[in-house]
Parts: sequence; C-alpha cells; structure tokens
Amino acid sequence: GQCAAICPTGAITIKNDLQPLWDDLHDKDTIVVAQIAPAVRVALGDEFGIPRGTNVMGKIVSALRRMGFDEVYDTATGADLTVIEEANELVGRLEKGERLPLFTSCCPAWFRYAEINHPELMDNISSCKSPMEMFGSVLKERAKLNEKGKKPKKTKVVAIMPCTAKKYEIHREEFQYDGEPTIAHSITTMELANMIREAGLRFEDILPEAVDMPFGIASGAGVIFGVTGGVTEAVIRYVMGDAAREHLADISFTGVRGFEGLKEVKVPYKDRELNIAIVSGLKNAENLIQAIQAGEVEYDFVEVMACEGGCIAGAGQPFVIGRAKPERSEGMYQADRMSNVKLSAENPVTDGLYASLLVGDKAHHLLHYK
Ligand code: SF4
Repeated sequence: GQCAAICPTGAITIKNDLQPLWDDLHDKDTIVVAQIAPAVRVALGDEFGIPRGTNVMGKIVSALRRMGFDEVYDTATGADLTVIEEANELVGRLEKGERLPLFTSCCPAWFRYAEINHPELMDNISSCKSPMEMFGSVLKERAKLNEKGKKPKKTKVVAIMPCTAKKYEIHREEFQYDGEPTIAHSITTMELANMIREAGLRFEDILPEAVDMPFGIASGAGVIFGVTGGVTEAVIRYVMGDAAREHLADISFTGVRGFEGLKEVKVPYKDRELNIAIVSGLKNAENLIQAIQAGEVEYDFVEVMACEGGCIAGAGQPFVIGRAKPERSEGMYQADRMSNVKLSAENPVTDGLYASLLVGDKAHHLLHYK
C-alpha cells in the first residue's frame, strides 16, 4: 500500500494487521486467552539470535503476559484431545472396515486442497477439528460457563501459529462458536516476533514462565504434532495403549520420523497390522492419492501436512536456510523427551475435561466439525 514507499520493511502494514489484537489487549472488558502451537516454540528464537531449534516456550509465555494476555496455554493440550478423538475414529472405522484410509484433517491447506481437488475423499477425512479449533471450543465453552451470572467479560481466544492458512481456517463457518469465529485472531510466529519488538521487550533476556492452569499440561505426544509424522506417532502411542509406555523408542524407529516426503509405517494392532502413510508437501499427497485410487497401495491411516517437513516449516515461521528443519525437529523431540506425560490418554487435563465439560455428546459437538 501507500506506506511501502516510506516503510521499506513493511512494518507499518504489519502493525495495521495486528491493531485489532492490540485493541483487544488494551480493552479492560476483554479477557484475552492465548494458545501457542508446538512448532512456534522451536522457531521464534531465530528472530532474536537464539541458537536454532532452541525451545523458547517459557519465554513466549512471559512475553505474552507482558503484552497483556490474561491467560496463556499450549495448543499441544488441544492436540491431546485431537489424538484421542482421531484415534477413536480410526478404531471405529477399522472395526466396521469402512471409509478407510482415514485421512487427517488438522492441516487447513491440505483440507482445502482435498475439498477442491478430491471431493470424493471428503468422507475419508477425519471429522476432527484441528487442535487449535478443539482447544478454542473448550476455552470458549469454559468461559461461557464461568461468565454466567458475572459481569460479562468477553473472552477472546488468540492462536499463535506457524501457519498462514490458519488465518483462513478460523473464518470457516463450521468453526464458529455462538455465531462468531471460535478463534478471534490467528497470528503467525513472525507476527508474534513483530509484536514483541513493538512492545519493546528484549526477548533474549526475558525469563521463562510456565503456562496457566487449569489447562497447563500437555503430553509429549501433543507437542510432536509440529513435525511431520508427529500426529501418527501420537496416534500409534494411543492405539497401543499401555504397551506404548514400554515401547516409545521402538515406535520412534518404525519410520515415523525423518523428512522424506512419503514415509510408510507398519505397526501391529490386535491380530493384524496397521498400514500407515505419512506425506508432507501437497505434490507428495497428490501422488499418494493417485496410487491409492489406482489400487497400487492400501492404507488404514494417512497423515497429510501441506508443508514439507510439517508445521516446523510453515509459511508463518522465520525464514532461515532449509527452514532449520533438523534443528527445529530435534527441538520438538527433545520437548517430548523432557515431558513427564508421554501419552495423550494419560494427560490429567484431558481426563478432567472428558469428565466435565466434554461429558456425553458434548465431546462430539465441541471437538468435531461434522
Ligand atoms: Fe499450516 Fe503448513 Fe502446518 Fe499445514 S503443515 S497446518 S499449512 S504450517
């Protein structure tokens, strides 16, 4: 626009995009709740001279509080809900032997691609909302319950994402809560970096803090969603149940990890084997779909991420050579190793939610888009 001539870096344009969010942060009658996607924490540091792949989650939490966010959570907690819902969907379809393979639905660029180019696959795509939307629905529902009888404050959920496609996802009709988008703002890692600069915070020196309760626990399985194969690894841990705890390393060596555009994994399940494909990059997804439709290959579960390498290489992330994929992915797996909860089903937060806010058919209503 007009300012390009006077502002070669485009900072003014970016500021204008973020102004509605700053306005909400300054509004005393709005409770602003943030959720931070897994891949953001291993990339934001690139903007502040921190070694590549360093997990700066704690610093992000502090920075957000200083900028006026009232509550800060981890989207990986939402990912734990996604693992449970999606794995149950898979088990249900395996038992009936129908609508297989089950394709993941959490990447909006893939979802849109399938909608336009492969409408025949829509029945095979999971009915699960993305972790961002699942967690957003839970946060809005809780706010509605809490606000009852009190002076109504408006709760707005802000998602910090590695992804530009999430900006479009939040405006889809099926992701509304009470007639408006569940997520009020979806900003990218780069936009967060700009906000931190605008606020005058020295990110390098900021001391890390922990996320808030009551949703402040995420499993390592939820965190690795940020890298290709992560959703699959988390789902395998879930369907293996108790056995998974002793076999975490074995699962990680099945072929789920690594940056190949197509990975094939076989895991034992009951009296048979599960055939799984993991693709990243839409060209690789298209090739796989062609092969499935030609009857050359057969799978039970297919994970698709539009970005090569998964969300760590999202379009909203700091752009460095090769998108620092090895370092960022190592940062994700290290966060998993350091987490005291490894399986989504063992997260006490999700357990508590299924016993309260998500009881009965509310789980389907809040966590699925159809
Ligand atoms: Fe967004 Fe890319 Fe992740 Fe898909 S893979 S959700 S487009 S960052």
